[in-house]
Amino acid sequence: MSPDTDIDMPMHDEDRMPFWDADGEPVQALAPGDAPAPIRYDSALDALREVFGYEAFRGEQQAIIEHIISGGDALVLMPTGGGKSLCYQIPSLVRPGVGVVISPLIALMQDQVDALQELGVRAAFLNSTQTPGQAREVERAFLRGELDLLYVAPERLLTPRCLDFLSQGRIALFAIDEAHCVSQWGHDFRPEYQGLSLLAERWPGIPRVALTATATAATRSDIVSCLALQDAPQFVASFDRPNLYYRIVEKQEVRRQLLDFIRAEHAGECGIIYALSRTRVEQTAEFLTRNGITALPYHAGLDARIRADHQARFLREDGIVMVATIAFGMGVNKPDVRFVAHIDLPKSVEGYYQETGRAGRDGLPADAWLAYGLQDVVQQRRMIDDSDGDPLHQRRQMRQLDAMLALCETVTCRRQDLLAYFGQTIEPCGNCDTCLEPPAAWDGTVAVQKLLSAVYRLWRERGQRFGGGHLIDILRGQMTDRVKQHGHDTLSVFGVGENLSVDAWRGILRQALALGLLTVDLEGYGTLALTEASRAVLKGERTLMLRPVAVKRAKTSRQRTTTAAQLDALPPDALARFEHLRAWRARVAKEHSLPAYVIFHDATLREIALQCPDSLDALAGISGVGARKLETYGADVVACVAQVQS
Ligand code: ADP
Ligand code: ZN
Repeated sequence: MSPDTDIDMPMHDEDRMPFWDADGEPVQALAPGDAPAPIRYDSALDALREVFGYEAFRGEQQAIIEHIISGGDALVLMPTGGGKSLCYQIPSLVRPGVGVVISPLIALMQDQVDALQELGVRAAFLNSTQTPGQAREVERAFLRGELDLLYVAPERLLTPRCLDFLSQGRIALFAIDEAHCVSQWGHDFRPEYQGLSLLAERWPGIPRVALTATATAATRSDIVSCLALQDAPQFVASFDRPNLYYRIVEKQEVRRQLLDFIRAEHAGECGIIYALSRTRVEQTAEFLTRNGITALPYHAGLDARIRADHQARFLREDGIVMVATIAFGMGVNKPDVRFVAHIDLPKSVEGYYQETGRAGRDGLPADAWLAYGLQDVVQQRRMIDDSDGDPLHQRRQMRQLDAMLALCETVTCRRQDLLAYFGQTIEPCGNCDTCLEPPAAWDGTVAVQKLLSAVYRLWRERGQRFGGGHLIDILRGQMTDRVKQHGHDTLSVFGVGENLSVDAWRGILRQALALGLLTVDLEGYGTLALTEASRAVLKGERTLMLRPVAVKRAKTSRQRTTTAAQLDALPPDALARFEHLRAWRARVAKEHSLPAYVIFHDATLREIALQCPDSLDALAGISGVGARKLETYGADVVACVAQVQS
């Protein structure tokens, strides 16, 4: 959701409305002890098991939660899907008072609250989608201590009215979700977030926990200074998401490749496709729809209602493919997104990692697929050069692009490269394309030298625009009209590269650009030019190991690591139960107009299908089945399982 339509500005009238209850009596905050007895959990582990139905904490969750329960502030850095929500939800259940969650996206609050209410948690939100009457109902519940969690957008929180009524109730903690929005350097800057610095001044004794999946040093220090978290411990989780299979392919006919990928590996499954421009989004969605895939476009140029409708369908229906610009995705916590595909090169590794992280939050295998080619490199370099703005910013963008290109061209484990970007080290992962099919890196020094000298010779003929195609014709000794017209067959480099195919040369050219050995000369004539770094290669001082040219395959083949493959495959009888359970879930979701995953996650249904529980007790032992879910759906689920067995 783009910031322009998702700002939550309360109406003026509402500001003047008193905190009165339905009988016209002003609502007084209740003294502690007067409030209706909330269910408080003695320990974090009780809440985890009872409410969420999970057996154990993940990673640092427990340490974080205990720290907050004891009244401490914290900065939590975890990858998307790492399990940040529990870090403030459980302390809100254990500490007295209401957990106030500041979340930038009003469009998603309803779903967040629905999901919590399904778990039996007393959650509510305050935003401009409500009538004043509904809003007052929520305010009243807050003041009477009848809520566990209250979601508000930052601009709403900062209104005098909201600050005023919050001061009258009891607050368990403030959770600042998507905290990277405070940072001007980040990709989702929201100026209102900076106003949150007043939390520390106004409520010095209430724990503040800031959470984000953006771990770069610049963002982190912005969060710390804005939210006054200088003394707070920082909990930095591993950014590894082992269930994601990373793959970067060479772009040929990208739509066809995309269609093959979806058909071969994700037919009927839910996914997100990212593209850079609105036109590409629309064209791709149309293309997929024509080819029988339920694809919806999403970008900031679409009408707000259409966007909201597409988002709702994506969340609620099974198997929708969303084709979007980066305006889509923040805060969308649909757990069963099975793939994220990029058909254009992302602008930074950070953005790429966030976007791919939206796949497979449920921990089941999911794909991160990116197609990238020569044109991407040229286009993005150009876009950065053309953008006005301060040179510092341009240089930063250029560095980000270079890191992204290095990831694309790496001949070692992709995940090692990705995590290194966040300052973390791991062993080769065994679940990325370079681990599974190691590219036979070859010594391309001589080939690159030939390419660079050809560029040098052409560049001297300033005033002419020679693109990559012409360059390759020269290297391969092709007597084209253009070659004849300019007398390029007389160049010393003419025909020196005839031993390599056009595709091979395109690959070399792309890698030379990616490695910064060539640049697009924009002051000149948009042609290719040498760089400072070219010199060492031309002088023979640097050896270049290159990726081989991709061999076109008839079919996309796929190898999985054993663990991933095991997770993927259910034995036939369990599969039948799983499908039956899914159909039941779809019906229930429709009746209650809830997203299916709010009822049960796929991961939970798989476990049920495998374990075949024949009683409520047996069902209770399955991860993801909490007390409330057991009560509401337990009998139906056990019956559903029994139907397939017989
Ligand atoms: P984040 O906000 O960090 O992107 P979420 O809080 O949405 O991640 O959690 C991702 C998924 O992992 C959710 O489906 C959540 O229910 C699940 N999850 C979180 N913690 C645990 C746990 N301790 N055990 C099992 N599942 C968990
Ligand atoms: Zn790997």
